[in-house]
Amino acid sequence: ITGADRGPATLREDAVTALRAGFTGQLVRPGDDGYERARRVWNGDVDRRPALVARCADVADVRRAIGFAVEQELVLSVRGGGHSAPGYGTNDGGLVLDLSSFTELTVDPAARTVRAGGGVRWRELDAATQAAGLATTGGTVSNTGVAGLTLGGGVGWLMGRYGLAVDNLLSAEVVTADGELHVVDRDREPDLFWALRGGCGNFGVVTTLQFRLYPVGPVLGGMVVHPLDRAAEVLRFYRDLCPTLPDEAEAYCALLTDPQAGVPVLALLLGYNGPLEEGEEVLRPAREFGSPLADLVGPTPYVARQSMLDEPNAVEGLHRYWRSAFTETLDDDLLDVVVDMAAGFTSPLSAVLFFYVHGAATRVPVGDTAFAARRTQWDVDVIGQWTEVSESARHVEWLRASWARAEAHLQGSAYVNHIAADDAPEKVRASFGPNLDRLRRIKGRYDPANLFRLNPNITPVAP
Ligand code: FAD
Repeated sequence: ITGADRGPATLREDAVTALRAGFTGQLVRPGDDGYERARRVWNGDVDRRPALVARCADVADVRRAIGFAVEQELVLSVRGGGHSAPGYGTNDGGLVLDLSSFTELTVDPAARTVRAGGGVRWRELDAATQAAGLATTGGTVSNTGVAGLTLGGGVGWLMGRYGLAVDNLLSAEVVTADGELHVVDRDREPDLFWALRGGCGNFGVVTTLQFRLYPVGPVLGGMVVHPLDRAAEVLRFYRDLCPTLPDEAEAYCALLTDPQAGVPVLALLLGYNGPLEEGEEVLRPAREFGSPLADLVGPTPYVARQSMLDEPNAVEGLHRYWRSAFTETLDDDLLDVVVDMAAGFTSPLSAVLFFYVHGAATRVPVGDTAFAARRTQWDVDVIGQWTEVSESARHVEWLRASWARAEAHLQGSAYVNHIAADDAPEKVRASFGPNLDRLRRIKGRYDPANLFRLNPNITPVAP
């Protein structure tokens, strides 16, 4: 967030009164009850004070809030689940369009679809769809927003078999910068629908999303934990294991601190989206390698798997700083750097994560959706988390220094939803890859003044 992204210090009272007259939801201003809560997002290190939080009750409110931001020339945050690490869901002096009241969830078990409001979180969607024995690819921390995660692509446990969240998005309803509501799918305004599937929040406020669902029962899942002094060899095993896995299998890897023992460990996060007996066979080598401290893999309900990483990642208000990049190779030097990082964690809540993107998620042609990173690869994330604001400088400094060592071994692009506020503009552009030019033209058509800019931003050009 730069100086240009700050709004004016005060709002015009007559304009607020006019907005209030037609507004069904709630308007929260500095000094109002609930303002302190309303201005905050998941990342407690983001300490900003918007001039107005508009908790919209319906599409008409969304249109009013957008119109108000345009007329009053306010910087605009669109908040779904509030989980963006850079804190795009709040700002200084501007308007926050809060979708937390958009909680619709309608599952159609016969058609195997779900309609979800723009403020729904994955834990709510997963609970509703699993009640019918169904699920779709979604994020692996349960209080992340469905909308924000999907608009950037959406990686999750089911992606090897069923593709990314965007690959299962059937339609969306979106209010654009001019206040118009568009219902889009492959046939209706296909350009806008294409751009929503990986172009992040650049194109408007998504009020409803409809997804395809699949039968998903309890599957084999869980973690195998190794001591840090064996991490270098387990990481090399993990690197060689991943390309051998079938679409049904998943293998993430984390270096983190064991909350009981208080020491850094390596965890292989394994799963198999298919019959349990088949999963036993496929995951056996990963479970038998080395001398693990614990093997917690077993039959697991999908909702339990989806919340396996919640502690501490779902905790609201912890202080965070996060850097990330994609890589198609894990060279020995990188693996040694991450083991070193774990040995020197400055906070027991920090972690290094490898998400393995493979299978169905990588077989969609690059131009079919705006999400461009259709390669078999790892998303490497270094996540700093701590409790005390007074310690922020120390942890951020550790993370930046660690990242500088790791980055030399990674590629110049990242998963757009994991891009940090201080990543260079070239990295943002590289992450949209060959789809950037088309995205810029569609942005020029639907948001020529770049109203929706608190996101991995796409600069508009004339269509
Ligand atoms: P918000 O902060 O509300 O919004 C983030 C961005 O999305 C903003 O630019 C906002 O304007 C836009 N946005 C949100 N809702 C809407 C809407 N309804 N209409 C238009 N724009 C909207 N990603 C994965 O793919 N897989 C994971 O497993 C995963 N795990 C994560 C775990 C944690 C702990 C965190 C913090 C993030 C994780 N992410 C993951 C990244 C996540 O996808 C992004 O942070 C995402 O932007 C969060 O969406 P949100 O709605 O919660 O966030």
